[in-house]
Amino acid sequence: MISICSWQARKNKYIKQMKFLLYNLLFICLLSGCKTIQVSNTPVNSSSDFIPHGKLFTAIWMQRSAEYKALCEQAYNLAELRLNESLQKPSDKPLAVITDIDETALDNSPYAIQRALQGKDFDNASWSEWVKKADADTIPGALTFFKNAAAKSVTVFYVTNRNEKEREATLRNLLKFGFPNADEEHLLTMTTTSGKEPRRSDITQKFNVVLLIGDNLGDFSVLFDKKPGTERTANVLNNRHEFGKRFIVIPNPNYGDWEGSLYKYNYSLTPAQKDSAWKANATYY
Ligand SMILES: [Mg+2]
Repeated sequence: MISICSWQARKNKYIKQMKFLLYNLLFICLLSGCKTIQVSNTPVNSSSDFIPHGKLFTAIWMQRSAEYKALCEQAYNLAELRLNESLQKPSDKPLAVITDIDETALDNSPYAIQRALQGKDFDNASWSEWVKKADADTIPGALTFFKNAAAKSVTVFYVTNRNEKEREATLRNLLKFGFPNADEEHLLTMTTTSGKEPRRSDITQKFNVVLLIGDNLGDFSVLFDKKPGTERTANVLNNRHEFGKRFIVIPNPNYGDWEGSLYKYNYSLTPAQKDSAWKANATYY
């Protein structure tokens, strides 16, 4: 165990390091004429340490690290390999791929950074404003993979927990890049439940779903819906043979059920309570 003083010293050091990193990254962006990061005049100022600083760090990692892009390309290369294997096998139904949208096909890191620079976390109102811009870029590797799949007569279904009010802007964003099957029929938004199993079941009535692609384990199986962290991990290990085969996982360090499980899925916790949950779940010496 560490003492409170030691914890405070580490916290202060961490905040200094984050500020140093942020200022350097912003300076580099200004020099390179980067317009992706929209810098707010409002400094990070929140009672929460982990949310704004942590999400700023992870979202900038998504935008600036070549490693993140390599991981995404690696995942979609594997998806292509598995799809080609499936195409060699007989099937009594037409083939389909089910994909999530956020942090799987579309990149929302500008939203995460905008919120973090204001010292704020996700909320529905600001998220809807971002979605309506239809300005999210593509996740590396995604567009090429889905276009290739469509060219091989594989149908793409977008199963997302964006809501019905966000449908029009979501299609607009996908169509901006020419994602295949970006239409009313193939976009399944969240209705009564965030669980995706009923929507997946509807699709499998008529299609042989050979691949599921997502950044959150709920994109793959009901086994992972709203489960405690230990159970999520156990279910991954018990189904390890599916990953890299039928399940293709895209990295997302910024949010997901892994974070929700830290809060026991109570997203109405205060920033201070969320900080406590993070600290209580961290391993250190
Ligand atoms: Mg997602």
